[in-house]
Amino acid sequence: MSATIISGTEIAQAIRHETQARIDALKTQHNFVPGLATVLVGDDPASHAYVGMKNKTAKEMGIYSRQITLGADTPEEELLGIVAGLNADPQIHGILVQLPLPKQIDEGKILLAIDPAKDVDGFHPINVGKLATGETEVLAPCTPAGVIEMLLRTGNDPAGKHCVVVGRSNIVGRPMASLLLRKGRGGNATVTVCHSRTRDLGAVTRLADILIVAIGIPEFIRGDMIRPGAVVIDVGVNRVDDPTREKGYRLVGDVAFEEAKEVASAITPVPGGVGPMTITMLMSNTVDAAVRLAGIRE
Ligand code: NDP
Repeated sequence: MSATIISGTEIAQAIRHETQARIDALKTQHNFVPGLATVLVGDDPASHAYVGMKNKTAKEMGIYSRQITLGADTPEEELLGIVAGLNADPQIHGILVQLPLPKQIDEGKILLAIDPAKDVDGFHPINVGKLATGETEVLAPCTPAGVIEMLLRTGNDPAGKHCVVVGRSNIVGRPMASLLLRKGRGGNATVTVCHSRTRDLGAVTRLADILIVAIGIPEFIRGDMIRPGAVVIDVGVNRVDDPTREKGYRLVGDVAFEEAKEVASAITPVPGGVGPMTITMLMSNTVDAAVRLAGIRE
């Protein structure tokens, strides 16, 4: 039997409508506009594309958006000064410094300099710590927060389930595990985290009621590594050569989709799965941050 396809595009759309309604109400009832600043350093084309999409979405939704673009040779001190200015700017409620940063800039130092209350990426150590200690009122990283929404909105509440997360990055795997583990909405799961040193990965992934994969290797998780009936969330986005496509490549996930969909009960596609959720959750985090900073009760 073929799995149900979990459409991130549709779920993201639904969340955007909800966030849009919040933004509209803030404007009409409080004459208040949430503000997002994105900072882009250097000329990495992928980073330019991501930041461009984030700003476009913010503008479309009526969020005040400011993009600061800096040269690849920007000194660390200059970036720290810009972050300090944004921290103090009352029009700005969310600050996102696009990663990776050029070599001369210490990423950790920059993340630490962002006001945790404006840290809409959820990467500041204070927010990481809050999430890890189970706080629910915290700005959580957008991609794993999006995965939780996808599970909840498709009737796959993680509570009580065995969730296996493959990958332990600070951006996806670790915050994913923290979200699944905390007491509260979208949490209360039994969580196992796997990584490149996990022995007999398939033996562990086959135990999962919900399998979440974020490793960055095309189609690494095969059908026989999935428990029949499991829910599979594929975070991976990988380019593989495909001369039949105009661009010469296509996008695939970390899961071998065609095999996996014959075993799983539900699965996310790539593209159109987790991808669309990330920017949507960034908008939602920006509104959350703005409302808290302004002390508005919605
Ligand atoms: P990282 O490279 O930072 O982390 C990869 C993780 O996978 C590491 O923990 C690594 O283990 C683990 N890993 C690597 N090889 C294996 C293996 N053979 N078996 C088990 N675990 C393994 O990647 P990210 O977390 O940043 O991204 C993962 C994927 O998700 C990428 O494809 C990325 O493009 C995608 N992504 C998608 C997003 C979206 O919006 N949809 C957003 C962010 C990422 P170890 O720690 O031991 O090295």
